[in-house]
Amino acid sequence: MKNYNVFECVNITNVINQLHIKKINQIGYNIYAVCPFCQSSNEKKGYLKINTLKNVYVCKQCESSGSSIDLYANVNFITTKAAYKMLLRKKPILDNISYTYNNPIKDEYYRDLVYRSFLEKLQLNDFHCKKLKDMKFTDEYIRDNLFKSIEVNNNKKKLICMELQKEGFKLEGIPGFFQDTDFKWNYKSHKGIFIPVVLDGKIQGLRILLDEKYDLDTKNIWFSSNNEYNGTKATNWAMVLKDKNINWIDTYNSNNKKSIIIATEMILAHKLFNNTNKIVIGIPNNIDKDWILNITKKMNVSEVFLYADQYTLLHTSTLMYKNIIKVLEDNNIKVDFRVALTENDIGSDLKQQNNKKIA
Ligand SMILES: [Zn+2]
Repeated sequence: MKNYNVFECVNITNVINQLHIKKINQIGYNIYAVCPFCQSSNEKKGYLKINTLKNVYVCKQCESSGSSIDLYANVNFITTKAAYKMLLRKKPILDNISYTYNNPIKDEYYRDLVYRSFLEKLQLNDFHCKKLKDMKFTDEYIRDNLFKSIEVNNNKKKLICMELQKEGFKLEGIPGFFQDTDFKWNYKSHKGIFIPVVLDGKIQGLRILLDEKYDLDTKNIWFSSNNEYNGTKATNWAMVLKDKNINWIDTYNSNNKKSIIIATEMILAHKLFNNTNKIVIGIPNNIDKDWILNITKKMNVSEVFLYADQYTLLHTSTLMYKNIIKVLEDNNIKVDFRVALTENDIGSDLKQQNNKKIA
């Protein structure tokens, strides 16, 4: 049996085509059609309003309403479960109305609000807590950085999304969230820990430290929902870890020459920050070299310890490192390239160096 795309099967334009409902006109993403419940097919005015974006229908005359699956079920006098199964077996006939698979992303202020509220609703389970403590993170550090276990239970996930919506948040444009086949909001889940990526005090996105290696044996991925219905793609954000007693403006506006660390991968950046207390910039496995140059100039950086984790080193083009090193050195910044080989006490030599400088 051929498997059709489930989103296309449950798309309301497919449902009206399968039911041969007569379309009258179309305004934007709304289609007006002859209502199968209260109108006869020779009428010239269509009372059935079909919202192709939300995938719902409502009749302005008889007030029947529901989802695309409800429409198919009600016309055929069958249950929604049976309707869903039947729709999956038929080759979809779609109207050429675009439906969003990749929303424009919301700005960092909005993402920060949604992600903070989202993380508040999640816990950190014992397994993940132990894992983080084995990496020498304290309870306080874990709490301050909002490390949370990803809830993977489908019902709980949808409840969390409902709570966010009740708080007034719109989830389109927030990477990670999408509308499921029942058109309820859901989010992409993987077994692992959310590592919020914070820049200028705002959560830009969520990086995921996976429990198990994924395909391409990576352990780190973005919380992203591109190619899902009403989903949004994450971009490659960077984060800056700094002493929480120093505010963001002072991190940038300082005349003192700084020695900082740049680390590929967020969990490595956290380990280095935890072990050294230097300013650490965490970058995903790919970053724009001009962004790096801009932020190091802004911070008045004179020396960079560039750390690569083993995965990134093996899988990222060495050109990225070469480009970063070149652009920094061309701007008179000293670069010390290092590979993080030991698991947890990486960077401990820098701590002493740092303390000496302060003394
Ligand atoms: Zn009607």
